[in-house]
Amino acid sequence: MRRGRLAEKNAIITGAAGGIGLETTVLFAREGANVLMTDISEAALEKGLAKAKELAPHHLKLETLKVDVSKEADVKAAVDYVDAWGGVDVMFNNAGIMHADDADAIDTSEKIWDLTHNINVKGVWYGSKHAVMSLRKHGKNNGSIINTASVVALVGSATPQLAYTASKGAVLAMTRELAIVHAKEGFRFNALCPAPLNTPLLQNWLGDDAAKRHRREIHFPSGRFGEAIECAQGVLFLASDEASFCNGMDFAVDGGMTKAYVTAQ
Ligand code: NAD
Repeated sequence: MRRGRLAEKNAIITGAAGGIGLETTVLFAREGANVLMTDISEAALEKGLAKAKELAPHHLKLETLKVDVSKEADVKAAVDYVDAWGGVDVMFNNAGIMHADDADAIDTSEKIWDLTHNINVKGVWYGSKHAVMSLRKHGKNNGSIINTASVVALVGSATPQLAYTASKGAVLAMTRELAIVHAKEGFRFNALCPAPLNTPLLQNWLGDDAAKRHRREIHFPSGRFGEAIECAQGVLFLASDEASFCNGMDFAVDGGMTKAYVTAQ
C-alpha cells in the first residue's frame, strides 16, 4: 500500500463537522493520519464521523470529541486526548463563526463582538498554545499548525461584518508571530485565507438574497464561489512535510480574488 502523505502523524481538527473541517478530516484520514475530529455540535460530529468513515474506509484512528474552542479546558482536553496517541503533530484551528447580527461599527453589539472574538481568536490562541505544549512535551522538532483566517484579513469587506473581519485580521497577525517565534523549534504556523465558499457558514447567511449573493460573485475572477474541498487540499499540503519550508504564509485559496484591482469581465 502507498505510504500516505501524513503517515504516522496525529492531527486535531476543530470545527471538524463543518464544510472545510469535514473535507479536511477525510483527506487527512485518507493520507494515513490519526484524526481527532472536534466540534461544538455533538450531533454534527456524529453525522460527520459516519461520512468520514464512509469516504476514508481505510482510516487509522478516527475519533470525535465535543470541544468548544472558546473554552481553554475543552481545547486542552482535546490535546490531552491526542497526547495519549503520542502527541500532536498537526493542529488545524479551523472553527469559526460569522454571526447574523454582525454589522458595522454602530450596530454591532458588544455581545456579538465578544462571542465572535472568543471563538475565532481565543480559540486559535488556545489551539496554538496547547499544540506547542504537546509538541514540546513529546520532544518533537516537526509540527504544523494551520489557522483558518479569511480573505477579509487581506482585503476589506464592503459589506459590514466588523467583528468577523477584525477577528480574522487577529488570526492572521497572531499566526505570523507564532511562525517566527517557534521557527527554530521546527513548528510551522500558516494561515489559511479562504474566499467565500459553498459551505453552510456563508450559504445559510446569504440564503435566497440574490442581490447579496451577486455582490460577492462579481468579484470572483473564476465567476464562482470556492469549494470546501479546495481549501482542504491546501490544508493537506501545509500539514504535510512537503510544506517543510512554508512558514508564516497567508495561504489564500481564493481563485485569484485578492489579486484583482477591478472586477473581472
Ligand atoms: P461551517 O459553518 O460549515 O463549519 C464551522 C464549524 O465550526 C461548524 O461545524 C460549527 O459547529 C463549528 N463551531 C462553531 N463554533 C464552535 C466552537 N465554539 N467550538 C468548536 N466548534 C465550533 O463553516 P466553514 O465554512 O467550514 O468554516 C470553517 C472556517 O473557515 C471558519 O473559521 C470560517 O470563518 C472560515 N472561512 C469560511 C469561509 C466561507 O465562505 N465559508 C470563508 C473564509 C473563511
